[in-house]
Amino acid sequence: MNNNMLSFMLVLAATSMLGACSAQDEAAPTGPLNAADTVAQVNKSEEEWREALPHMACFVLREKGTERAFSGEYWDNHEKGHYQCAGCGQALFDSDHKFESGTGWPSFFQPAEGSAVLEKEDESYGMRRVEVTCSACGGHLGHVFEDGPRPTGLRYCINSAALEFAPDSTSVKGVRYD
Ligand SMILES: [Zn+2]
Repeated sequence: MNNNMLSFMLVLAATSMLGACSAQDEAAPTGPLNAADTVAQVNKSEEEWREALPHMACFVLREKGTERAFSGEYWDNHEKGHYQCAGCGQALFDSDHKFESGTGWPSFFQPAEGSAVLEKEDESYGMRRVEVTCSACGGHLGHVFEDGPRPTGLRYCINSAALEFAPDSTSVKGVRYD
């Protein structure tokens, strides 16, 4: 590979990372992607995420976006079932732990299993919040606040677009919940 080709590849990789979710109408670059363009944990490039996910899911999961309150699919969902990551399918939340927060976003007082999500300090937009991400694919889900109901006192404020609901009748990859 000559130098020109190499710089072209690097530009291509950088461009597709920057344009992750907002450049859907542009023609997708074809051909092999540079190895630097992959995300460590799930081994998916931002290009692949963009192609695999609906626009809102990509905006939330990959760009840490937030859907408008009361606009999502699940804030008012009262069905029994499990909420999976819209990015990778990992079981994240259970309808048994969902409550009415009045915020317009699906709210849970705990994750289905502690290991399903990761939490980390987020000081963006001049606020001190705790960001919640999927532990399997690193996708952004929402934030957790300490004004939730008993028994945990926590409020996991999650974007509908980051979730996929599986009603109880369907089995979720043999995962057991208590
Ligand atoms: Zn995930």
